[in-house]
Amino acid sequence: MKSIFDSLNDNNRKIETWIDGKTSKSTSDRYDIVTNSATGEQCASVIMSTKDDVEAAIQSSKKALQTWSQTPVLRRARVMFKLKELIERDKKKIAQIITQEHGKVLDDAEGSIQRGLEVVEFACGIPHLIKGEFNNQVGTGVDTFSMRQPLGICVGITPFNFPAMVPLWMFPLAISCGNTFILKPSEKAPTCANIWAELLKEAGLPDGVFNVIHGDHIAVNALLNHEEVAAASFVGSTPVAEHVYKTASEHGKRVQALGGAKNHLVVMPDADMDQVADALIGAGYGSAGERCMAISAVIAVGDSADPLLEKLLPKINTIKIGPGDDISNHMGPLITAEHKEKVKSYIDLGEKEGAKLLVDGRSYDISNSAGYFLGPTFFDHTTKDMRVYKEEIFGPVLTMIRVETFDEAVKLVNDHEFGNGTAIFTRDGDAAREFSNNIKVGMVGINVPIPVPLAFHTFGGWKRSLFGSNGVYGMEGVRFYTRLKTVTSRWPTGIRAGAEFSMPTM
Ligand code: NAD
Repeated sequence: MKSIFDSLNDNNRKIETWIDGKTSKSTSDRYDIVTNSATGEQCASVIMSTKDDVEAAIQSSKKALQTWSQTPVLRRARVMFKLKELIERDKKKIAQIITQEHGKVLDDAEGSIQRGLEVVEFACGIPHLIKGEFNNQVGTGVDTFSMRQPLGICVGITPFNFPAMVPLWMFPLAISCGNTFILKPSEKAPTCANIWAELLKEAGLPDGVFNVIHGDHIAVNALLNHEEVAAASFVGSTPVAEHVYKTASEHGKRVQALGGAKNHLVVMPDADMDQVADALIGAGYGSAGERCMAISAVIAVGDSADPLLEKLLPKINTIKIGPGDDISNHMGPLITAEHKEKVKSYIDLGEKEGAKLLVDGRSYDISNSAGYFLGPTFFDHTTKDMRVYKEEIFGPVLTMIRVETFDEAVKLVNDHEFGNGTAIFTRDGDAAREFSNNIKVGMVGINVPIPVPLAFHTFGGWKRSLFGSNGVYGMEGVRFYTRLKTVTSRWPTGIRAGAEFSMPTM
């Protein structure tokens, strides 16, 4: 069989659905163009799947579920061990695809694969993770035990910014828990999904356990409305997360929907300003700010703002922008021309709203490039009522608010509608402890700007950054992808004692 890796340099490659262990011809002939964000040129086209394609994927998943859900957990774990090896083997090639379609710099792309790979490593321990509990003799001759059983067909709908990592947050655990999984990746960066399909097949996963549907809201809604789907995991923007949460819940599905963000970094006056400046450069402008855990709002407490700017502004001016396949560059392009225009319009808006524009990314240009490049931007004297502070921009734009006290900083973070990640930079343990105890945000960093938890913890925000009760991966992931059953058993000697008519009290 021809591998997708063979066509990676072919700009006419067509990314098709993957059903029953092979690429499958869609009933649609509607393709979307995928562009190389550093050149603006086509690098692939992707099929926009139809309701019929979704139906075919569901039927394939349903059939595979019968045997996969009964497959011993050790054998399911072995597929994950093998997948880990294959991802390590192909990591460099996968990173090239991410850089081509998304634009992030190669070593950043490889780093994102590594963070996803860690979830595969976690899933290798599924025989232990999925264990139930047992109590002997809860009553005379009575034992109670619990087990975690698979849900059935699970679907994953993922965003453009982490085409390898975000699917890896989902399917390794879903599959190793005994479910079948249908992935609907972003149409802007679709190739990785088919790579996962090929690698899973090579790792020994039976056909139909992992299927891929491509496309837009038509495919998503067909999946969410389908009665055979048991659970939906979504990662993307907040308006779509709300839609997915509502639709999937109304159709009786278990759902976790992770949405957008506006992550604050609080700078206390005692912080090491060199450290804060370095942290802001990476967390604000890395991956062109297209990370849900990027820092986009700086809260400078007391007299910290000016010493910080003294360190930060010269560093912003040294950021090297260009195509991600040149690893001497620090920042690549944005995902599409349309998104670049949206981010630019926020810079226009910030000026109109009266924020002080200290660094203007709009002036940045790579001559002779049709790529979607935009320079780093920094606004000082933003206020809490400005839209550039309130809304998610998802680009290389930092806004700073100056406040007098720690309490004002905490209130700003707590009053914000998003609650994905946040960080405090300080040398004071009491301030850090107070912050982590009282802040209304799901992931908190203390002198750590992007506190993405490792695979054996759990990723998830609060407020309008997560809809549903479970975060992704870690034990929350195992709980999300399984249903708990508790069995109370008594064996014949108890029955031989005769029938009981009163309520058993143990
Ligand atoms: P998006 O919401 O536009 O798209 C996400 C997925 O939803 C894609 O697969 C897309 O095809 C599908 N989709 C889009 N519109 C839809 C609709 N109307 N109905 C049904 N499905 C639809 O997000 P994006 O632009 O791909 O990604 C960027 C967003 O994702 C940002 O808001 C970012 O903060 C967020 N994000 C969040 C996390 C997190 O963990 N919280 C992680 C990564 C990205």
